[in-house]
Amino acid sequence: MALIVQKYGGSSVADAASIKRVAKRVAEAKRAGHDVVVVVSAMGDTTDELIDLANQVTPLPPQREMDILLTAGERISMSLLAMAIHNLGVDAKSFTGQQAGVITDEAYGKARIIDVSPSRIKDTVARGEVAIVAGFQGVNPSTNDVTTLGRGGSDTTAVALAAALKADVCEIYTDVDGVFTADPRIVPSARKLDRISYDEMLEMAASGAKVLVLRCVEYARRYDVPVHVRSSFSTRTGTLVTNEALVTNEEGEQMEQPIIAGVAHDRSEAKITVVGVPDVPGKAARIFEVVAGAGVNIDMIVQNVSAASTGLTDISFTLPAADGSKATAALTEHQPDIGFTALQYDDTIGKLSLVGAGMRSHPGVSAKLFAALSEAGINIEMISTSEIRISVVTSSDSLDDAVRAVHTAFELDSTEDEAVVYGGTGR
Ligand code: ADP
Ligand code: ASP
Ligand code: MG
Repeated sequence: MALIVQKYGGSSVADAASIKRVAKRVAEAKRAGHDVVVVVSAMGDTTDELIDLANQVTPLPPQREMDILLTAGERISMSLLAMAIHNLGVDAKSFTGQQAGVITDEAYGKARIIDVSPSRIKDTVARGEVAIVAGFQGVNPSTNDVTTLGRGGSDTTAVALAAALKADVCEIYTDVDGVFTADPRIVPSARKLDRISYDEMLEMAASGAKVLVLRCVEYARRYDVPVHVRSSFSTRTGTLVTNEALVTNEEGEQMEQPIIAGVAHDRSEAKITVVGVPDVPGKAARIFEVVAGAGVNIDMIVQNVSAASTGLTDISFTLPAADGSKATAALTEHQPDIGFTALQYDDTIGKLSLVGAGMRSHPGVSAKLFAALSEAGINIEMISTSEIRISVVTSSDSLDDAVRAVHTAFELDSTEDEAVVYGGTGR
C-alpha cells in the first residue's frame, strides 16, 4: 500500500464523461488499497476562456481579481470530480488550495509556494477518504487573498503536496503517454522516454516542453519526489522523472546515458534589436538595467561587431512576447540617455533546444545540429548554450521543420507506432 498523489490536467477532465472516466481511475487506485490524493486542473481550456472573458470586460484586469477569477476553474473540476467519485461508492472530499494549506508569496499570477501544511488532507486520507485538491492556487497568509501559481501551475501543486505528504510517487496524468523526444503534436515519430533525469527535464521544461511546468521540476528535484508522467487515457507505463544517479537497468547496473534526451521548442518569445548603440563601456549595462527595471526577464543576448567607421553596434535579445510592449516602452523612454538609433521588434521567432546530459562529454553535437538545420535550409538567427543544452532561434514559420530535421539527424525517430495524442486542443 502506497500514498499516491495523482494530478489530472485540463484535457483529462475536459467534460462530464472525462470526469467520470478519471473518477473510475481514482476509485480503482483506492480499491487497490492505496491512499490517494488527487490534484485537478480546470476543465479543458477553461483558464484561457476566463482570461478572454476578463479581457472583454477591461483591457487591464486588476491582478487580485484576475487570480480570484482563475481559481474558479479548478474549483469547478474539483467538486465535480468529488461528486463523480462519490457516485462510485468511494468517499471523497474536495479542497481549495487555501483549505489544503498551500501557502504562497504575494505575487499574483505567478506566486511561489513557500510552505505546504496539509493537515486537512492528512486527516481526510487517515479517515480512508480520497482528498481532491484544486491545483494552481494558494493563499497569501499576510492578506488572506488567493493567488495563482502561473500557467501550468497544477503540476507544481501536485509535486509540492507529494513532497509535504512524503508520497511514494507523484503521477502526472495528461493527454500523451509520457515525456517524448519531441512534442508528439509536431513530431509523430517522437519516442517515449522510459526515464529522464531532473536536470534534463528542467532544461526541456525551461525550453518550452510544456508537458511539465518548470517550477514543478525544480520542486521535485529539490525534494527528491519521483514523478511519473503518463496518460489518463491509457494504462501504459509513462516516463519516470528521477535522479540521474538512479538510472539503472533491470539487473541494477548503472546504464550509460544517451547523448540526447530530446528536442524542445518554444514559440512564446520575441526578439528586440537595439540598433546603433554607442560601442562604449556601460551601454549594455544600461539597456539591461532598463529592461530589468520594467520587470522583464530576458533569455538570449547577441551583440554584433561594431562598425569601425561609426563606432555603433547592435544588441539583440529575446524575451517573453507577453512582455514585449513593456520592454519597448521602457527602452523608448530611455532612448535619449542610452543614445541608440532605433528599436526593432520581431515576434515571429521560434526557439529550438536540443537537450541531453551526454552532451557534456560528447564533441560534435553543435556541428551536427547546425549541419541538420543547414541541410533543411533553415536560417539560424541566434545561438545560446548551457552545459547540457544548445538553443537556436529561427523564424517561427520554419520552427516545426527545424524540430523534425534535428530530431531525425540525431536518430531520435521511433521505429514503432506513431505517438498518440489522446486529447487536448494544444492551446
Ligand atoms: P495538461 O493539460 O495535462 O497539463 P499540457 O497541455 O500542459 O497538459 O501538456 C501536455 C502537452 O505537452 C502534450 O499534449 C504535448 O503537446 C506537449 N508537449 C510538449 N513537449 C512535449 C514532450 N517532449 N513530450 C510530451 N509532450 C510534450
Ligand atoms: N488551469 C491552469 C492553466 O491552464 C493550471 C494548470 O492547468 O496547470 O494554466
Ligand atoms: Mg500542463
